[in-house]
Order: sequence, then structure tokens, then C-alpha cells
Amino acid sequence: MENVIIIGGGPAGYTAAIYTARSLLKPLVFTGETPGGQITLTNDLENYPGFPEGISGIEFFQKVDQQAKKFGARIENKFVTAVDLSSQPFKVSVGKNEYESRALIVATGSSPRKLEIPGEKEFTGKGVSFCATCDGFFFREKHVAVIGGGNSALDEGLYLTRFASKVSIIHRRNQLRADQILQDRARRNGKIEFILDTVVEEILGSDTVDGLRMKNVQTGKTENLPIDGVFVFIGYIPNSQIFDGQLEMTDAGYIKANSRMHTSVEGVFVAGDIHDELYRQVSTSCGSGTIAAIEAEKFVAEMEGRAYPGK
Ligand code: NAP
Repeated sequence: MENVIIIGGGPAGYTAAIYTARSLLKPLVFTGETPGGQITLTNDLENYPGFPEGISGIEFFQKVDQQAKKFGARIENKFVTAVDLSSQPFKVSVGKNEYESRALIVATGSSPRKLEIPGEKEFTGKGVSFCATCDGFFFREKHVAVIGGGNSALDEGLYLTRFASKVSIIHRRNQLRADQILQDRARRNGKIEFILDTVVEEILGSDTVDGLRMKNVQTGKTENLPIDGVFVFIGYIPNSQIFDGQLEMTDAGYIKANSRMHTSVEGVFVAGDIHDELYRQVSTSCGSGTIAAIEAEKFVAEMEGRAYPGK
């Protein structure tokens, strides 16, 4: 029987692991097959306190992983396939193996949203990418398109200018959603052009991408843009499928919780992007991971009849 199982290996799950491990709960953490979450796809983390020069997402993750293990968190790079939250203890399945736990922290994050247009699936890995840090290097002196108008699109578009000869940022409206500081930086960058009021209807190519078909939503005019690569950054979808019917969710699939990260099931807590539709920062994920961990500690202490500071 585990005290606490944490599902998710991004900043939220790892922060919860550090806190519960330091409280001697010996947390068991299932990170999925590739730990780190979206932060490992980020080239420069420059708004997390304590790193005035910025830090790469991968380096940040490595430090956090080291820190959690140092305090005794047991990290398993396995994917949770099912949960049963109908009674205590909760059951967590990894394939045929079943684990039991008193408390559960859900920090399963979200995955990149897809355009769902012809060519996107066919050319993924052949010119279509969802990660500039991973694939930017392949587009040295090439012309690439970035789809989206949020912080990710501009952040990643700016990063791609290190490699590409030209970066066309294509956005469906005429106003960007990204923070002003990123908009200003992108507008000052001579390699970036903005194509606004435009949707991409199809990604074109034979073996690899060689263009895209786009439509101006104001004029209705359609044209082809020759291009070597397409980077899609149009937001994220919460990874909450295994909790369907067991935890209360919003219409968009984010798990509902109160300000203390309690879900609709007592003993199940959430942290990070799986609950946070609005802020989605590393710092806010670490914050909610902290709260979820403290609440899980209180829950386990109460079950054992132990005193907990502040109670
Ligand atoms: P986002 O803020 O949700 O922006 C998604 C963008 O994609 C929007 O511009 C949206 O257009 C567009 N879009 C959505 N669906 C589309 C579709 N089907 N076709 C075409 N365009 C579509 O997502 P994000 O940029 O990934 O950012 C996610 C969160 O992470 C945000 O809270 C952001 O602040 C945060 N973040 C922060 C940083 C940073 O602080 N440096 C960096 C990266 C991400 P509309 O504008 O028309 O809706």
C-alpha cells in the first residue's frame, strides 16, 4: 500500500514529489515513458525565479529530477493506463500491474493541440513538428511556417530564427494573443514575417513538406505558400481521459478542483496544467504541485490519526 501515488512527470508532479518525499511519504511517481513534460520542449525558460540568465527546459528538468530522487521519491518512467477511484484505497493500473494508494496526485498535464487538417498527420516527422527545440536544427537556412498567435508560437518562432532563413508566423486573427514583450521582439526580428487573418487548410508535399495551402479569412482568397517545414503551436488539450466519469471536469476536459487542489473525490488532488486552463506557467504548476502535496500529506496524516502542523 502506497501513501501517495503521483501521476505525471512535469514540474507539477515533480514539485509534489519533492514535497511529499521530504515529508517521508516515499511517493511513487509515474512519469509516463518520457518524463519532463512540456518543459523539456522549451528552449529557454527565462521567467522562472532564480535563473536570471534563463535555463534550458531539459537542464531544468534534470535538476528537478535529481532533487526529487535525492529526497527519496521513487520515479518510474511508466504510463498509467487506468485508475479506480470508487473506493479507498485507490487503484492505479500500469498495464497488468495494479498499485494501491491512500492519496493520489494527478499532474498529467496536457498535449499539443493538432490542426486536424490534411497533410498534418502524414507529414509529422517529415516536415511537420510540434517542437522547435527538437527539430529546429533540421531547418538550417530553410523557410518554415509557425502556426498560432500565442506565447508558444512567438517564443518558438523566435527560437527558429537561429536556424531558418525565414519564419512565417501564420495566425487566424489579426491580433496576436502573445505577451507584448514577445510581440515586440518578434517584430524587431528581420527573419520573421506575420501572415494574419489566415488559416492553413492543407499541408502539401510528396516525401516531405514543400508547401501549404492557406486562406485569408477576410477576402476568402486561397493561395499556396512554398515552405520547407511547419511548426504547429495552437495550444494544448488536457490529458484527463483516464479520469473520465470519475472526477468532475470542465467541458474542455480540465479536472475541477477547489483552491486547495481537492478534486471531487476526497483524497485525490490535482496540480499543473491538467487543472489550470488559464495560467499554465512552470511557476504556477510548481505552486499547485506544492499545495497538492501539502494537502495529500494532511490527508494521509488524518487517516493515520497523526498530528499535522497547523491542524
Ligand atoms: P494559447 O495561448 O492557447 O494560444 C494558442 C494560439 O493558437 C492562439 O493564438 C489561437 O488563436 C491559436 N489557435 C488555437 N486553435 C487553433 C486552430 N485550430 N487553428 C489555428 N490557430 C489556432 O497557447 P500557447 O501559446 O501554447 O500557450 C499556452 C499557455 O502557455 C499560455 O498560458 C501561455 O501564456 C503559456 N506560455 C507562456 C510562455 C512564456 O511565458 N514565455 C511561453 C509559452 C507558453 P486565437 O488567438 O484566435 O484564439
